[in-house]
Amino acid sequence: MSGRKMVMIPGPTPVVESIRQEMGREIQAFGDPRFVADYKKLINDLGELLHCSGQTFPLAGTGTLAMEMAISNTTKRGDNVLIVSHGYFGDRFIEICQRKGLHVDVMQAEWGKIIPVAEIEAKLASKKYAAMTVSHVDTATGVCAPIEEIGKMMKKFPETIYIVDGVAATVGEYEDVDGMNIDILFTGSQKAFGVCPGMFILWASKKALRRREELGTIPEYYVDFQKWLPIMEDPGKYFATPAVNLVWAMAESVRIIKEEGYENRCERHRKNARAMQAALESLGFRVLAEPEHRAVTLSNLVYPEGLADGEFRSALYDEGMTVAGGLGPYAGKMFRLGHMGNIDSNDEVATLGIIERALARCGADVAMGSSIGVYMREMTR
Ligand SMILES: *Cc1c(COP(=O)(O)O)cnc(C)c1O
Repeated sequence: MSGRKMVMIPGPTPVVESIRQEMGREIQAFGDPRFVADYKKLINDLGELLHCSGQTFPLAGTGTLAMEMAISNTTKRGDNVLIVSHGYFGDRFIEICQRKGLHVDVMQAEWGKIIPVAEIEAKLASKKYAAMTVSHVDTATGVCAPIEEIGKMMKKFPETIYIVDGVAATVGEYEDVDGMNIDILFTGSQKAFGVCPGMFILWASKKALRRREELGTIPEYYVDFQKWLPIMEDPGKYFATPAVNLVWAMAESVRIIKEEGYENRCERHRKNARAMQAALESLGFRVLAEPEHRAVTLSNLVYPEGLADGEFRSALYDEGMTVAGGLGPYAGKMFRLGHMGNIDSNDEVATLGIIERALARCGADVAMGSSIGVYMREMTR
């Protein structure tokens, strides 16, 4: 046995060979004209891909740093912020905002459900909010928020910056920054882009850039748009060292996405996710998210009666796969399975095979191959 473990968690996701090769390239100086051209192209390509006519910032750091960057550049101490939370990562904005001295109002959905758009609208109408945050897919619940519909509604609130956490969604779930009226969108390299961890990408609309200007000097340094804008214009200039190999790795990921087609990629995620979810339900797991609001990038699967979390996940590991455990109220009651990025249906068939074997090891009565049959039938419908 090779000892290989498939990494089917909601990030980092599997990294394909051509992207790994970019990570292993010999380093270049950040001022090398070849690297400067590569970085500039990546910035432009990412802006075009997500339809952002403002500014795209692919920088060293993780998704959490992008969350701070979004808040830092759009709010000042004493402002009101509305946090629309569909789980653990939505909640993460609470502390980020409180530490900055913002007044925070939180709308927390029951896990697995969404906050209806009409309720968000009523809340926004009740006072003046400088910004509102929504996670597109909350990794803790596997819920996908209706960000396009919310974006339409946001047109009634031109003074509020609409911040979308796309960390577990972008380039898996369809997004369009200009078209959906989003002011700030961000993600991490390690999720649906299928690149190693260490880079985040933040897209800022023209409205978000104007807000940053209005704020004058801000307390934050590394994440200040104003520090990075000249670098994004001319990456040959220095502010802080770019993640050279991650720039190349991201460029390869963008090439793969363009080759597949952005919309085709999102459609593939949708089709594969629905087939995976049907297959997993046939094994007795319950998908936490309501059917109308299920993510296509991951599934959060509540255990059937009698299946113990620790025993099941270590059986999965022994059979060759890592998955993530449940968070918050679902710790020990569910597991989280990532199915985003550059994986294909062969990986998914293998995933189902491993899950069936692990179930059998835990003493469950499972008809071997049954979920794979469900999956294959869904995929060939
Ligand atoms: C993973 C994740 C984050 C945090 O990203 P890091 O890269 O781990 O800092 C934030 N939001 C969502 C929705 C995520 O899935």
